[in-house]
Amino acid sequence: MMRSASKAKTTLRAARTPATHARAPKLDPRISAAEKFLLPTYKRGPFVLTHGRGCYVYDSTGKKYLDFLGGIAVNALGHAHPRIVKVIRREAARAIHFSNLYHNAFQGPLAQKLSQWSGMDRVFFSNSGSEAIEGALKLARLYGRNPADFPSSAALKHRILAMDNSFHGRTFGAVSVTSTEKYRLPFAPLLPGIEFVRFNDVDDLESKFDNSVCAVLIEPIQGEGGIHPVTEEFWNRARDLATQHDSLLIADEIQCGLGRTGRNFGYQKFRSKPDIVVIAKPLAAGLPLGAILASNAVAEHISPGLHGSTFGGGPLVCATALEFLNIVENSKLLENVRARGAELREGLSALADKFDFIREIRGEGLIIGVELSVEGAPFVAEALNQGLLINCTHDFTLRLLPPFIVTRAQVREFLKTFELVLASTSKAASSSAPKKSEHSPHLARSAAK
Ligand code: PMP
Repeated sequence: MMRSASKAKTTLRAARTPATHARAPKLDPRISAAEKFLLPTYKRGPFVLTHGRGCYVYDSTGKKYLDFLGGIAVNALGHAHPRIVKVIRREAARAIHFSNLYHNAFQGPLAQKLSQWSGMDRVFFSNSGSEAIEGALKLARLYGRNPADFPSSAALKHRILAMDNSFHGRTFGAVSVTSTEKYRLPFAPLLPGIEFVRFNDVDDLESKFDNSVCAVLIEPIQGEGGIHPVTEEFWNRARDLATQHDSLLIADEIQCGLGRTGRNFGYQKFRSKPDIVVIAKPLAAGLPLGAILASNAVAEHISPGLHGSTFGGGPLVCATALEFLNIVENSKLLENVRARGAELREGLSALADKFDFIREIRGEGLIIGVELSVEGAPFVAEALNQGLLINCTHDFTLRLLPPFIVTRAQVREFLKTFELVLASTSKAASSSAPKKSEHSPHLARSAAK
């Protein structure tokens, strides 16, 4: 703790704290409190974000940033959307929380709407993506259990197949199905019965599937893994194998779902449906809310007392989520996602022709990865400097998750600034270029540009 506090002192830029005397710049007390009292789980820059409007956010010095990260896929309506502000004000003055022991006015209608969006039958509300994943894993184990054995611990079907390069969250169950070793190994032993399949490798999937599998878990677009879409062949084979072995296909749509691809859900470009869909991030427009959406065949295995949550699905968050889904529908935001996404990818492809360290542009709608042949972190830092919020995932992929309300002018503004960022960072970056085989070796790639 001492170390990070003193580091913040030395890295704080004088420009952000107007000098009143000739001595060292004063440390922003909000940053020093954060550095001293928070668990050091995140590396943060020496500035404080204070507010946002639409696709822009502002820091305490008044600096403006174009937000192309959207709180990592959460702020689909940008910041301070008037209809979201209105519903939160109204409902906060009525009821923030009752208890899941009672009905509230919004949980049922929200579940109904999510069922219409997804084609699933039943919904359970959680407070985060990880918690929804936990619940989905529990449902899968319940499904695999012979009701006659219940509640004995013996289960014929208990294995869960997860994917290489996956990310499903930070709780124990979620980490157990997340492949990245640095997230897993420090916390071992993890949940037993999990096995990883090479993403998009049908042969590997087939060789690991048998009647002991209760679920196969897939992100239709791997987000943290670097924006890698599942292939139609792999998805359909997973569906067929799950059906054949009476196990469940679970789609983690936490990052790519609820409109981000230009469809309600990523999986809806395929002919076949999953048995469980897990969502969170943009669902309540920034308030914490996740959900498990399940088919009736899954839902009939659960009964009162087997699962629950104190906070999940309270009246305030559910009213806000209903408003979010209504706004996406009424404002024709899926069309905007598709149109702006196409413009963005077109502009990025033009940049890929100019900058040879751009290896590949991936994704659809407004979930886009720009894979570099060099480390992405310096580009993120320079983007911040030039007033752009983006991030880097899997070390080499710059990730763009702008709000669904982004305008054509803002896409142009982004591309113009991003080009400057690429140009000014590239010299230093290309001098430290690794060989292409040094990263993501397990993933077969399509043509680079
Ligand atoms: N699944 C996916 C695909 C995610 O992208 C994330 C978060 N990045 C999670 C699960 C975990 O969600 P949360 O952080 O809300 O627990």
